[in-house]
Formats: sequence, C-alpha cells, structure tokens
Amino acid sequence: MEENVKKIRVRFAPSPTGSIHIGNLRTALFAWLFARNNQGAFLVRVEDTDRKRLEEDSLKKIFEALKWVNLSVDEGVFLNENNEISQKGELGPYIQSERLEIYQKYIQELLENGKAYYCFCSEERLEEVHKKQQAEKQPLMYDKKCRDLDSEEVQTKIKNGEKYVIRMKIPENEIVKFNDKVFGKISVKTEIIDDQVLIKADGFPTYHFAVVVDDHLMEISHIFRGEDWIPSTPKHVLLYNFLGWEIPTFVHLPNVLGEDKKKLSKREGAVSVEDFRKKGYCPEALINFLALIGWNPKTEQEIFSLEELIKKFSIEGLNKAGGVFNYQKLNWFNKEYIKVMSEDLFEKNVLEFLSEDLKEKILGNSSAFKKILPVLKERIEKFEDISEMAKAGELEYYFSQPEYEIEKILWKEEKDLNQAKVHLEKIISSLEGVTSFKEEEIKTKIWDYATEQGRGSVLWPMRYALSGKDKSPDPFVLAEILGKEETIKRLQYAIGKIN
Ligand code: GLU
Repeated sequence: MEENVKKIRVRFAPSPTGSIHIGNLRTALFAWLFARNNQGAFLVRVEDTDRKRLEEDSLKKIFEALKWVNLSVDEGVFLNENNEISQKGELGPYIQSERLEIYQKYIQELLENGKAYYCFCSEERLEEVHKKQQAEKQPLMYDKKCRDLDSEEVQTKIKNGEKYVIRMKIPENEIVKFNDKVFGKISVKTEIIDDQVLIKADGFPTYHFAVVVDDHLMEISHIFRGEDWIPSTPKHVLLYNFLGWEIPTFVHLPNVLGEDKKKLSKREGAVSVEDFRKKGYCPEALINFLALIGWNPKTEQEIFSLEELIKKFSIEGLNKAGGVFNYQKLNWFNKEYIKVMSEDLFEKNVLEFLSEDLKEKILGNSSAFKKILPVLKERIEKFEDISEMAKAGELEYYFSQPEYEIEKILWKEEKDLNQAKVHLEKIISSLEGVTSFKEEEIKTKIWDYATEQGRGSVLWPMRYALSGKDKSPDPFVLAEILGKEETIKRLQYAIGKIN
C-alpha cells in the first residue's frame, strides 16, 4: 500500500479529439492498475474544452476501447450496458463542458486575489509579439501588456464589449519546485513560465485551469499522465498554491517510442487502440505487452494476466526512459494468447475476419471448418492474417473444389501428365483401404510408394489436386481435413482433367 492514508483516487482524462492513442491507453492502464492494487478508485473525466478539436464519435471510440480491454470505470464517464455514454459518482459532472460554472467560481477567486488578470490583446497583436520574439530568438511568451491595467480601465473595456481572455499572473523571480514519482525533483524558474491563459475568449477554461480545478474537486490523489505534461506542471503547481490546495502526487510516464526512438506515431503503422482491434489483436495480449513498456516487473516472466499485473504493479517499477513499441514483440505476445484461446472464441474471431461469402461456404461445411481451426491457430499471429489468407485464396480450397490449370500438378520440370495420372490412381487405390482417415495413416499408406517413385513426383500432384495452390499444408494434413470422400473426389477430378 502507498504510504498515503488518503484514499487512492486516480483519473484518466481523455480529450475527445480522435481515437485513443496506444500511449494514452498505457497511461490509463497504469493508473487503473495502481488503483486496483491499492483498493482505490479509477475515474474517467472527459476533457472537452478545446472546442475546435472535438471530433464526433470520439467519445464512443474511447469508451469502447476501454471496455474492450476490460478497464472498468468506478466513477465518472463510462459506457453503460446499452452502450451509451453516461456518468456516475458524487463529484460530477465529469465532462468539463458541463462544469463551466464551477470554473467561473474559481477564476473569480483568482481575479480577486490578484492571481489572474483580464487580457484584451487581439490575436493579431499577439502574433506580432511572437514574430518579434522569434526574430530575436526569444522564447515565445505573452509580453504582459495587460498585466497591470487598472480595474476601472478593465471594467470599461468589458462594458464596451471588448473581447478578453483571463491569464494567470505568474509571480516574478521565484522557483517552482515539485517532485515527480518517476522523474524525481524538478525545479523551474518562473521567468520562463508564460502568463498562461486560464479562460479563453469563448468562456471555456484552458486545459491547465480545468485540470487543476477538477483534480482538486474530484479528490485525485495521484496524477498519472504522459511525460509531455511535465513542462506544464509548474503552472499547475502555482495554481494549486494560489488556490491554497494540496498538491497531488505526480506520476509522469515515459513516452511510448517507435523503433526510431521518437514518440510512436502513425509513421510506424497502427497507433490507435481501434487500429489494433481491427487488426485482430487480443485485448489481453495488447494489455500484457503495453504493461511492459516503461514498467519493469523485475522478473523474467513475460506473460501476465490482468490479475497478476494488478498484484505486481508498483510505481517504483516505472522507468524514466521511454519504452520502445516493438510490433514483432506484440505479435509474439498475441500468438501466445492465441495458443491458449478457447476453441469457441478462436472460431468466433476467425469468422469475424472472413468475408460473408466465405463464411457462408464455411458454415455449410462445418466439419471441415472445425478441422482447419488447429491449422489456422498454428499459422496466424493476429486475426487479420485470416483475412490475408482468405484474400490469397489459402482458405477457399478447404471448402470447395479448387480450379487450376492441369499442367500445374506436375512436379518441377516434369512434363508427363499420364505419369502423374498413374500416381494419382495409385494413391486413390491406397486410400480406399484406409479406415481411420488420419494424417499418420494416410502417410503410411502412401509413403513407400512415394519414396520409390520420387516423393516430389507423387506428393506434389496429390497436394495440388487437393488445394490447387503452389503453397499449402502438406497433402496428408489436407487429406485428413477434407475427409476420405472429398479427397478421393478431388483426386478423381484431377484425373478427369488429364483424360
Ligand atoms: N486531456 C489530456 C490529454 O488528453 C489529459 C492530460 C492529463 O492527464 O492531465 O492528454
């Protein structure tokens, strides 16, 4: 347990600006594991104050992703059993756009205490200021023009309907210090902190203001978020001080990196949780894999169930260095999870990745389908591979007689179709006597003949007659899956084409 006697309360605070990035899912996962490990609460708060970046449907996608990976929400925004976005808990609302009055109350307090001020500078003016700073190689900051306007002037401007924002009055010549559980002690001079906008011209708070107010009012004990937020944290610390609030514990998480050691981005391929779902990754594998990026369980063990992760997780195991997202490693994890997947679930997943056409054929021949499942299980890393196999025609032949040019049943440079026919006829007569139509028995019946005549010359035509493909499992596996009757039928079909 944490040393803190206060109840552990953590939050995941997504902005509905698109699908959920895999790095954000990992943030949510660590916060969730920490809450579960300490009998705490996991809250979800929606940060939708950046009205220009909102994306419809984004919320749904975010919550479906959380549900898919099984991260249950104790408080705040969640997806109810009818798949609708809803809220639960005493300290709501948990969607920032529904909390505007609350932010008003605290901004008034800051204005009254001289910790914030109205700024009437136009966007054009701010641009000019930035341009000048850029030319002089200065940091881009507000030049504090409105910081000391007298209150009468301010009132007149407001009365005249001038547009304004409210900025934070960063104290001069101070050092802001805070401690981060992962990155350690951090201190920053206030000279380099901008007079941050707290309330925008549209009346909405900025992230920085809303996050502090909400984390305080929602009694958050530990703030888990990406390391990108470290530079913003001094402003937050100042706000906590201005408002006389206790500062929560910061737990900034190292970035999830691509192979190029830069923050994982679309350049590398799939990055949103939705992408991974569409590719047919198992949620348990994704979670297991993500948990080990930036966190060290300090054992050799790699496969962890969610329950085991809860037991093992601790903030002390988090690394400062970014963790690389290695797709091959993810595929390895996924294969491990596929190996132990129940037959029913495996079957259900396979069907989801097939076209309607093929599904129909398959369901019309369910005994062959059941037999190919173990073959598929061996061959795939993720369920999208099933669609790829289907597209390459590697599934269809299990369910219907394949079409092919008869010359293709000849092994390598061979030319004599009549010789192939002799082999196929011999195979048929050997198979007729096989009672239990199993791979091993089929092989035993044909092996000596094939060895004597040349294995390629005998087994290639057999395999080709069964699959119609240059590549497929070996003919004994195919024959067992197809069954005696269908196998013989396909061999006869080939013979028929030769005649
Ligand atoms: N809304 C912010 C984001 O989506 C959350 C940052 C935080 O956790 O404080 O990144």
